[in-house]
Order: sequence, then structure tokens, then C-alpha cells
Amino acid sequence: MSEEQHVDLVVLGLGPGGESVATEAAKAGLTVVGVDERLVGGECPYYGCIPSKMVIRAADALAEARRVADLAGSATVAPDFSPVATRIRDEATDDWDDAVAVERLEKAGVTFVRGHGRLAGEGVVEVAGTRYVARVGVVLNTGTAPAAPPVEGLADTPFWTNRDVLRATEAPSSLVVVGGGAIGAELAQAFARFGSRVSVLEAAPRILALEEPEASEVVAASFARDGVQVLAGASIRSVTYADGRFTVAFTDADSTDLDLDADRLLVAAGRRPNLHDIGLETVGLDPSARSLETDERMRAGERLWAIGDITGKGAFTHMSMYQAGIAVRDLTGTDGPWASYHAVPRVTFTDPEVGWVGMTGQQARDARLTVRVGTGALAESTRGWIHGPGGDGVVKVVEDADAGYLVGATSVGPTGGEVLSMLATAVHARVPTAVLREQVLAYPTFHRAVSSALAALA
Ligand SMILES: Cc1cc2nc3c(=O)[nH]c(=O)nc-3n(C[C@H](O)[C@H](O)[C@H](O)COP(=O)(O)OP(=O)(O)OC[C@H]3O[C@@H](n4cnc5c(N)ncnc54)[C@H](O)[C@@H]3O)c2cc1C
Repeated sequence: MSEEQHVDLVVLGLGPGGESVATEAAKAGLTVVGVDERLVGGECPYYGCIPSKMVIRAADALAEARRVADLAGSATVAPDFSPVATRIRDEATDDWDDAVAVERLEKAGVTFVRGHGRLAGEGVVEVAGTRYVARVGVVLNTGTAPAAPPVEGLADTPFWTNRDVLRATEAPSSLVVVGGGAIGAELAQAFARFGSRVSVLEAAPRILALEEPEASEVVAASFARDGVQVLAGASIRSVTYADGRFTVAFTDADSTDLDLDADRLLVAAGRRPNLHDIGLETVGLDPSARSLETDERMRAGERLWAIGDITGKGAFTHMSMYQAGIAVRDLTGTDGPWASYHAVPRVTFTDPEVGWVGMTGQQARDARLTVRVGTGALAESTRGWIHGPGGDGVVKVVEDADAGYLVGATSVGPTGGEVLSMLATAVHARVPTAVLREQVLAYPTFHRAVSSALAALA
């Protein structure tokens, strides 16, 4: 017979948002059980944002050093991946050990259970034979796992996902990256800067296909300078692995059948939501769904909340944390504000960085808004010109012309993610375009390209 324990709240999955909900709910006086089968903190600290940005930081240092030749004399660059591998192992992940995170959780008053949890009816989670019955309810934060496309032969090869590449101790001499989205693009460029011969295979007609076309164009030009081979519009036919080498057979955009050979293959072609085996059917929800429907308070059902990647509102740590705050307010009977998604930002940390918020021009047109767009090239701004090598970028603004405010923006540049903040505020607060135009912007900054983009609105 299974054991039964009565608590206030069960948090199933302790990604960034789940960890935060569990901690805050316990601090508010609820009895909380937090369940995770892997590492407390989820993908971001161990296999995602943090280690990938450490690789990128190091790779960008190499790129800047190579720019010395154009600006300040000479510098000898001899890439070595070991400092970044050591930093990831020792400083970021404690050698992929979550003891510190577990201790932090327990100190906040959360009971931590390591294991695979499943819903077993409303307000009940079962882990290894124990039923946790939650008076207030259950928060789901089960996140995503790397997905591999159904390509012939692929599953039989030792391909890398994000969970392998971020444990690498050296840069491979050659690397094929399947997927030119944010994760694939960031890592492709970073490894190229460490000296790997890198090819990116992307099914869409361009890399960073979710971004504005202008952003993809600037990043593609930067990739070309870094020696990254981009094969967009490619369709992979099969993958084989023999004698320590991968062979990827694909058909290119011109319908020509070609092969690529490499030491390593990184698959960064999407994520699978962890929804299929968490007992959703026991509460009347569909386990084969791509995401869970949530209301403005993050409620997904009776005594059930869902936060993070599984809500389909943007697979970002900041979204998981934002939704965690909302769920905690609802759980503890505190007032809103409740969820709003009109100004969700994201940054792709390629060089140049690509910051985006709200809507692309196409999304705004699809939403039948009366759209005006404007762009301003960084290279034509004083700061972009002063910056010289590595100073390429563009700002694009998307206006709802009837409403008279921005509904979206993109900022590409050396600090594109930082320049984004003023644009994100404008979209979030629906600042009238006329007011934005009145603003005095410091000279000579990259963000002055925002005025050029606003001036070009048409
Ligand atoms: C390479 C890479 C780079 C990224 N870079 C960025 C970035 O720069 N910025 C950014 O904002 N985002 C980035 N992301 C995305 C970010 O990592 C996620 O959005 C973030 O981790 C939030 O996810 P989450 O809260 O939904 O849960 P996750 O982090 O996915 O965690 C879910 C947790 O639930 C656990 N779990 C799942 N099912 C069960 C179960 N049945 N029982 C028990 N436990 C379970 C898992 O073990 C895991 O610990 C990146 C992702 C990757 C892969």
C-alpha cells in the first residue's frame, strides 16, 4: 500500500520558476514539497543559459582580441577551451551537483523529494509510491528536454544535445550544428571562435528564422566573417557515425544532395515539453499537448497551476520567473498584476546580439494592425562608425499606427540585448511614439539608432 502525506502545496519540477514558487510559498507559511528527478534549478544553470553564456563570453573575448589588428596593433590569439570548461564545471555547476540548491530550498522550509513525479488526480502527486495530497494544489514546472528530429540513423549515433556540448572539455576540430535557431546559432559561432570548423544546417530559408529578416541578415554576415558555414533551406536525409566521425547527408536549398563530415554533431532543433508522462490524463488534460493552457493567474485546472516552458508563452528563464511570481501571488491570496504577454522580450547572444520584444512586423500584419516599420543601421550611427569592426547592427521598430505606439522592436548590435531595454519599456508601457521621439538620447551611444528607426517609420 502506498504511503500518503498531506501538505499544502506540491511543486512538480524545480526549474527556475518552480524553485522560486516552492521557496516563496514556504516563506509565506505553506507546507511545501518540491519534486525534481534531475537537478534543482533545471536546465538554465546546468545546461542552458548560464554555461552557454560563459562559453559565449569567452568566445567574444577571442573575437575582440582578433579585432586588435584593425584597431590597436597586434595581439596573438591562441584559443584554449579549458578555462571556460573549468569555469562551467567549478563556478557555474559545481560539477553538475545541486547540493547547494537543495540546501537553499530546505533552509527556506521546502521538503525536497528527488524522483519522477506524476499527477494522480486533482491535488495529488505520486513519487516512488508515496502520494502527496496537496490542500492548496499542485504547481507544474516540468520544463522541456532536447528533441531530436526523426532523421534516419540519427538515434544510433552519439550526437550531442545542449546537455553534452556544455560539458565538453575541449572544442572539437569540426562540428555540424543541426538547427540555426537561438541555441544552435549561439553555440555555432562560439565554437567557430574557438577554432572549430563549423557548419550549420537549418531547414528554414534563413538562420534565426523567428527574428526579423534584417536581424538574420546581420548575424549571417557576422557568421561568414567567423567562417561559419550556413546551409539554410537544407533537409537532412540521414546521419551515420563511423571511426569517430559523423556524416550528415542532406539536400541543400538548390535540391542538390550533399554530405558533411565532422567530429561532432550538435542537434539543436527544438525542445520536447515534459508533459507526456506526468499524469495529465488523471486531471482531464491532454498528455500529448505541446503546451498547457493557463489563465492570467497561471491556473491550468482545479487546484493546478503551470509555469515556465510548458505554458508555451516563451521558453525563457525570465518567463518562468515572471510566471512564478504570478502563481505565488495567486497561491497566497495576494493581489495581481496578472499575466500579460504583449511585451515578452528575448535575447539571442550571438555577436552581434539580437534583442526582440513584442511582435515582428509580420506578426503585427498577421494581427491585422495598421503597421508602420522603421529601421536604423548601427553602422550609419556615430557610435557604430566609431566602434568599427564588430559594430554592425540594426534597430527596427514596429508601430501600431492607429494606436500610435510601438508593438514590437528588434535591436541587433554589440549590446543589442541591453539596447532592447528601452524598447521593451516602450512596448510594455505603450509609450506614445510622439513621446519617444521627444526623448533626448545621449551621444554617441548605440541606442541612438532607436531615434533613426523612429524617424524612418513609414
Ligand atoms: C542551451 C540553452 C540556452 C538557453 N539560454 C537561455 C537564455 O540565455 N536566456 C533565457 O531566458 N533562457 C535560456 N534558455 C531557456 C531556459 O533554460 C529555460 O527557459 C528555463 O530553464 C526555464 O525552464 P522551466 O522553468 O520551464 O523548467 P526547466 O529549467 O526545464 O526545469 C524543469 C525541471 O523539471 C524537472 N522535471 C521534469 N519532469 C519531471 C517529473 N515528472 N518529475 C520530477 N521532475 C521533473 C526537470 O528535471 C527539471 O529540473 C536556454 C536553454 C538552453 C537549452
